[in-house]
Amino acid sequence: GDFPIEKDTIVIGAGPGGYVAAIRAAQLGQKVTVIEKGELGGVCLNVGCIPSKALINAAHKYADAKESGDIGIFAENVKVDFSKVQEWKAGVVKRLTSGVGTLLKGNKVEVVKGEAYFVDANTLRVINGDSAQTFTFKNVIIATGSRPIELPAFKFSKRVLDSTGALNLPEIPKKMVIIGGGYIGTELGSAYANFGTEIVIIEGADEILPGFEKQMSALVKKNLKKKGATIITKALAKGVEEKEDGVVVTYEADGKEERVEADYVLVTVGRRPNTDDIGLEQIGVEFVGKGLIKVDEQCRTNIPNIYAIGDIVPGPALAHKASYEGKVAAEAISGHPSAVDYLAIPAVCFSDPELATVGYTEEQAKAEGIEVTVGKFPFAANGRSLALNNSDGFLKLVTRKEDGLVIGGQIAGPGASDMIAEIGLAIEAGVTAEDIAMTIHAHPTLGEITMEAAEAALGSPIHIL
Ligand code: FAD
Repeated sequence: GDFPIEKDTIVIGAGPGGYVAAIRAAQLGQKVTVIEKGELGGVCLNVGCIPSKALINAAHKYADAKESGDIGIFAENVKVDFSKVQEWKAGVVKRLTSGVGTLLKGNKVEVVKGEAYFVDANTLRVINGDSAQTFTFKNVIIATGSRPIELPAFKFSKRVLDSTGALNLPEIPKKMVIIGGGYIGTELGSAYANFGTEIVIIEGADEILPGFEKQMSALVKKNLKKKGATIITKALAKGVEEKEDGVVVTYEADGKEERVEADYVLVTVGRRPNTDDIGLEQIGVEFVGKGLIKVDEQCRTNIPNIYAIGDIVPGPALAHKASYEGKVAAEAISGHPSAVDYLAIPAVCFSDPELATVGYTEEQAKAEGIEVTVGKFPFAANGRSLALNNSDGFLKLVTRKEDGLVIGGQIAGPGASDMIAEIGLAIEAGVTAEDIAMTIHAHPTLGEITMEAAEAALGSPIHIL
């Protein structure tokens, strides 16, 4: 019917931004409706964070089974049934997405299926197949996320893959070219390299993983090369010729045109915000370029009852950032004085080794004129790392020189993705290097590395000279 249905708070999109915003708004007493055109959980749960980590884990299990000879473990006939891996991965996703459904229901959030676009600043039209419905609202939170950028010379197809295609391959490729050595390309490349695929990464910049310090990405590069990967930097991907059973990718490096054959090519050159065809321009929502919506510290756009969060606003396109903004926007709508503070947003690459960073790097601090004392500690001097037979890496704790306040940290090594949380908490809570050094960390654990780096920042670590 076309009779408008009145709502209080509408959230568009049920990814980690939207579903978290909806739950928090409901907890604060709002009557909330979520509109989702696809699956609950968005990119993150369905075709992003979760399935990629499942694939990375399966690949590690396989590689470990084959490569543990140095600790005296010899397995014969280690095989991968890739359709079983895919089935298991789908099960992990299903458990989480149905969990989101349960949580929304339990919080009395209404879920409406369909694609929303704006009619005016208080009205949405939602299309679901042949039917359409108009909704009016008091407040709306836009959380429509992003999609892979498609290069004109690399139209996505059966063998020219976006990240979703690479996650859902029917087989383990013998050889795969990856265009773009950002964190998505590197993570998926590492996973397939561990499964035995020959990987060729073509990157335009002079290093892969440009978001991390060179010392960190160098470790990932070394490991990828050990697994037979080729990394070509300062290279420009030019085109692809599709054949029945593979692709031929052409690229330019060192002024020369080169060709490389492979089973598949994965194109991960960035993501585009889903803000282009939902009527935002007509209603006067302001942008800050590249389709990103301009918001204030409460995630409010220039139109006071319209909020935007997640991949469609500036900042790192990460799930935990989307969820954090979702909570802030929901609280703002409910009259709370919440505001975003991006100081302690961690970023992680689930490569080999894992890389993680939070807060300031040494270089960023110096660039802002902050005098720092850095405590560095190698994984190789930690008992647990050696017992894990995985001791490649280091931890850097960045502290303010004048008072020892922890302002940042970088970790390359096993468990970095979990270890970074302690440094994030330290930044958030105003903890000093001395506080961390004085905190008793269980032995033998990777957490001791953080304690020892704090001791190093204070000048007297026990386990390094
Ligand atoms: P999304 O998750 O994109 O959700 C948006 C939702 O809105 C979708 O469900 C979409 O269907 C819906 N929608 C869009 N338009 C409309 C409309 N008009 N009407 C109704 N519904 C609509 N981040 C991490 O933090 N850690 C990781 O390890 C990580 N790994 C990743 C791996 C891969 C392969 C990819 C692709 C991404 C990864 N990310 C990771 C990034 C992360 O997935 C995103 O940052 C996150 O999903 C953004 O959340 P969001 O809520 O803004 O949007």
